[in-house]
Amino acid sequence: MTRSERIGLFGGTFDPIHNGHLRAARLVQRRFGLDRVFFIPAAIPPHKARPDMAPARDRLRMTALALAGRDSWTASPVELRAGGPSYSIRTIETMRRRFPRARLFFIVGADAFLEIRTWREWERVLRRCAFIVMTRPGSRLGAAASVLGPAWKNALRRVAPGERLPDGAFEPPAVFFLPIDARPVSSTEIRARARQGLSLAGLVPRAVADHIRTKRLYRERSALRRGLSPAHAARRFEKYR
Ligand code: ATP
Repeated sequence: MTRSERIGLFGGTFDPIHNGHLRAARLVQRRFGLDRVFFIPAAIPPHKARPDMAPARDRLRMTALALAGRDSWTASPVELRAGGPSYSIRTIETMRRRFPRARLFFIVGADAFLEIRTWREWERVLRRCAFIVMTRPGSRLGAAASVLGPAWKNALRRVAPGERLPDGAFEPPAVFFLPIDARPVSSTEIRARARQGLSLAGLVPRAVADHIRTKRLYRERSALRRGLSPAHAARRFEKYR
């Protein structure tokens, strides 16, 4: 019997996408034998909206630039098309409809998973899609594993080095904790460097650095130029929290 297609859903603000994301996706893809990975920039991230966020179309464009030349990776506009706050449950249902027979894996860093219980319909999210929680420097996998409580104990699994992962193990609810050799890179650091006009070499792919420079993203005044004063923008995003 042929095995089902395995699809990774890697959601994020990607403001901007960086080499830490790319490395993590590569390691997860290899370990779980994912046939494809969709990188999905959030339209309005419910937990991370900031007044100086780069416009969604730039975040999607940078994601596409970073993935250029990799056939199994796609920059997906699914959350941007849906508009409004980007709730993962909606994205998972959309991808489930698109790929009814595939195994879906939601990929998150340990820091993001710590907040899972604040996600909209989080229990349904976990029942609809397997999760891969990966190391993020600064956040312990063990702490992430303890956020769900005893009711979910049987769904949690720490992936040991070299361990075989049979297809049947992927039936949700299934939350895999995967130690990876992650890089201590964050979008926050990159925005700060861009603001100061510092080099982004080695932190983001060159095409992404070029896009940030030519569009003058993350410069102090770029949010103001778009007519988004920090105070206005903060008020606008407030309702999505
Ligand atoms: P910010 O610094 O603005 O908070 P970020 O670097 O965390 O941004 P996001 O787009 O919010 O980037 O991250 C998307 C997903 O990728 C999250 O699940 C996050 O945990 C994970 N992630 C981000 N950076 C890394 C990294 N260096 N290694 C492993 N996972 C990462």
